[in-house]
Amino acid sequence: MEQTLSIIKPDATKKGVIGKIIDRFESNGLRIAAAKKVQLSVEDAKKFYEVHASRPFYNDLVDFMTSGPVVVMVLEGENAVLKNRELMGATNPKEAAPGTIRADFAESIDANAVHGSDSLENAKIEAENKLKEDLKKESDQESVTASASSSASESDIKPENEKVS
Ligand code: ADP
Ligand code: MG
Repeated sequence: MEQTLSIIKPDATKKGVIGKIIDRFESNGLRIAAAKKVQLSVEDAKKFYEVHASRPFYNDLVDFMTSGPVVVMVLEGENAVLKNRELMGATNPKEAAPGTIRADFAESIDANAVHGSDSLENAKIEAENKLKEDLKKESDQESVTASASSSASESDIKPENEKVS
């Protein structure tokens, strides 16, 4: 089964449309194989968008991607890479086809709601890269935090220690 990496960007998490975006994937045959809301560090964002390092918008892109939380997901399904790109729409929301995520939820080319791997090759790299490692680490960390800070009334609810993938 094909996998691809999706990121719900800070503009969309701020707007409160995480659920609506995930619904687009799930309603169109893509399963959420892994998901985590994280704050990317400048280092994470720079590394992730390294391919664009020489572009004039690179610094703004890194600033934007670290301006708030993002949701990093591994999507899974038949033709997941291409299907995700179709659901996302064109990079510039003004050029994105009606009904696509970017047409419906994005304002501008720099704040365009979602990232999606652009090829099978990049999907393999991205879905297996450090971000996914971070997902695992962070989820372990959160379980610890949740158990340490749970109140008396919640203390009988056992925090799940499940890995995200
Ligand atoms: P996509 O996200 O559709 O794969 P690219 O890989 O070309 O697009 O670019 C990565 C991200 O960089 C875009 O999603 C967008 O946020 C930003 N970006 C691309 N082109 C521009 C531009 N001309 N001006 C500002 N930001 C841009
Ligand atoms: Mg791209």
